[in-house]
Amino acid sequence: MSNISLSLDEIFILAKNVFFKNGCDEETSNIMADLVMKAERDGSLSHGLFRVPAYVSGLKSGKINGKGNPDIKIISASVVKANGNNCLAPVVLNKSIPELIKLAKENGVAILSITNSHHMAAMWPETEIIAEQGLVAIACTSYKPAVAPAGSIKPLFGTNPISFAWPRKNKPPVVFDMATASMAMGEVQVAKREGHKVPLGTGLTKEGKDTTDPAEIADGGVLLPFGGYKGSGIAMMVELLAGALVGDNFSYETAEKDNNDGGPPSGGEFILAISPDKLSDTDWDTHSSKFFDKMKSMGDVRLPGERRYKNRLDKGPRHINEDLVNKIKSLS
Ligand code: NDP
Repeated sequence: MSNISLSLDEIFILAKNVFFKNGCDEETSNIMADLVMKAERDGSLSHGLFRVPAYVSGLKSGKINGKGNPDIKIISASVVKANGNNCLAPVVLNKSIPELIKLAKENGVAILSITNSHHMAAMWPETEIIAEQGLVAIACTSYKPAVAPAGSIKPLFGTNPISFAWPRKNKPPVVFDMATASMAMGEVQVAKREGHKVPLGTGLTKEGKDTTDPAEIADGGVLLPFGGYKGSGIAMMVELLAGALVGDNFSYETAEKDNNDGGPPSGGEFILAISPDKLSDTDWDTHSSKFFDKMKSMGDVRLPGERRYKNRLDKGPRHINEDLVNKIKSLS
């Protein structure tokens, strides 16, 4: 399998062209290309160029509106509601997160409730940007069923990612961003494409048997939640926060309504922002820095997000799967 080298600018242009040629306006194309480029830059490979063909499917079928605008309403001192109007989630986020940040800074806490938007991206971009403004952030979203609740061999939960970001003065935020599945389906698909095995416990075959073959999981099998019933509880929480609480679908309802064009279905997202300046009477930054230092002094510990930040320092070309690049070019 061969790779080709593309600079970050070339990745941006490749992505921008394909979004623009498939019905996105200039603004949406720029926002999406920026997100794809940043995912490749940081090594979030399952959410960079790899996702572009699926976005194109959703644009081509008309499910995703590449020229639309979300409706953003300030409901109260601490609630922002964004109806995505079938735009891509990064567009909705670009327009609603500044409102969330403003309310959280003024009032100590604020929630952004997003509906009718098309997600499928990584979640660190939203929590990181909120934490860069000195706020703690938690975000989650559901998807279509791919993960069996503890005790079942049938999918009910999405891979339901959850991201948390902690702000640091004069340092990048500490950010974790993880599927509540034992492995994100995107990673399973990458492993299938690259011919790698996945760890036992990642998922089951369609007959409910343990397997290390990513194809058996991706094609008719099922993922398992991380950490057995504990991860199952967190995946359930994500369904409730990004579904019933914000006023959007559970994963199984999303699947019932989706047109199955291969593009990301319409769904909701929950984002919470909290101001430590308003909540804490202590020097929270020095206090938490000591905690992070202590963590890092305990052997081979690294903070979540550090891998991405290290990748980000490399401004050089990225080595992208050639078949994928050719496929994206053909879609332009
Ligand atoms: P990983 O398991 O690769 O990583 C999860 C988190 O753990 C990351 O923040 C990572 O930081 C951190 N981490 C990894 N290894 C270590 C370590 N040794 N020590 C400390 N921290 C560590 O992510 P997933 O495969 O679960 O998810 C990948 C992406 O897929 C996420 O961005 C997620 O949002 C996205 N996703 C999106 C979905 C959607 O529907 N929109 C559905 C499911 C997943 P670092 O990045 O620095 O390695």
